[in-house]
Amino acid sequence: MSEFFTPSLSALEPYTPGEQPQEKTYIKLNTNESPFAPSPRVLEAVNRAEVENLRLYSDPASAALCRAIADRFGLAPENVVCGNGSDELLSFAIRAFCDAGRALACPDITYGFYKVWCRLWGVENHVIPLKEDFSLDAADYEALGETILIANPNAPTGRALPRAQIERLLQTNPNSVVIVDEAYVDFGGESCVPLIQSYPNLLVVQTCSKSRSLAGARLGFALGQKALIEDLNRIRCSFNPYNINRLTAAAGIAAMQDEAYLEKCTAAIVQSRAWTTAQLRALGFAVQDSLANFVFARCPAMPGGQLYAQLKKAGILVRHFDAPRTADWLRITIGSQSEMESLIEAVKRIIGKEQRPCAQPL
Ligand SMILES: *Cc1c(COP(=O)(O)O)cnc(C)c1O
Repeated sequence: MSEFFTPSLSALEPYTPGEQPQEKTYIKLNTNESPFAPSPRVLEAVNRAEVENLRLYSDPASAALCRAIADRFGLAPENVVCGNGSDELLSFAIRAFCDAGRALACPDITYGFYKVWCRLWGVENHVIPLKEDFSLDAADYEALGETILIANPNAPTGRALPRAQIERLLQTNPNSVVIVDEAYVDFGGESCVPLIQSYPNLLVVQTCSKSRSLAGARLGFALGQKALIEDLNRIRCSFNPYNINRLTAAAGIAAMQDEAYLEKCTAAIVQSRAWTTAQLRALGFAVQDSLANFVFARCPAMPGGQLYAQLKKAGILVRHFDAPRTADWLRITIGSQSEMESLIEAVKRIIGKEQRPCAQPL
């Protein structure tokens, strides 16, 4: 830190993203990316003409993209705002709906970025521990009088709340915004989008990074009633009105319009998730019931950090969160079926449960 860095942010600890090694090719199961390429329509949309248009600024309203997203959800464009990743919109939402006197409530075990944004924006973070088994008790958030941020399904646990429980929070917190981070909803969760028309305090945030295979394009979107979306646009246009670049907008429109491809990709992940969960359980692992594109698992044979390191040595990257409640657990992204088979083989070798081939008969 230089002597010039503002003392008011000296305690800021940046978010640590999952490793993105540029040198070696790992089986990469650490940042919940999709093993599948984006929809073929994305490749058609990001074409020569779009590249030539890069000399012009992008549309600061991202109108065509907002319309494509609105159409997908049966909403109006005024119900949509787009972000440079959903990270940007979550950060804007915390800035818009919290301050020093209005806390953000979220679980202790959840997306690690939430607490970083609280520090960055000077917002108090009210941390509400998950239950012993990592379940979230929605009753902890009833009539709270604070802005609420819940990832549903949650990360890194993969556990999901039914929509009715979130609706109860919307009803008992009518004067607070409830932000539902649905980054993983396409893998089996119950979306809160159908509640938007009924609740002016609901903001749903989704991303194209996971289920739509566009992590590198950086595209997220928030959905809510017009007034909430205007609030977010007020922040966005006070920060970076051209937050969505032309290539990303073209890719996003194409991806939103290919529902069949989304369904095909997510169905494959759901199938491999079930297979991986069963395999790990058969090896004695504790595995959370996941509705996301990852599983959260605890090894019976060795600490999480050790298994993480052994897998890395074997060329497989997974995510280890070295915090007191999660240190024994690993978050493993569901990749392609063959990647998951490689993972299970490596785990068997590491924990010494592999079926060794029979010795040569004498
Ligand atoms: C991946 C993730 C995001 C952020 O995704 P972007 O790539 O910024 O859209 C947001 N929330 C959760 C819970 C995530 O896991």
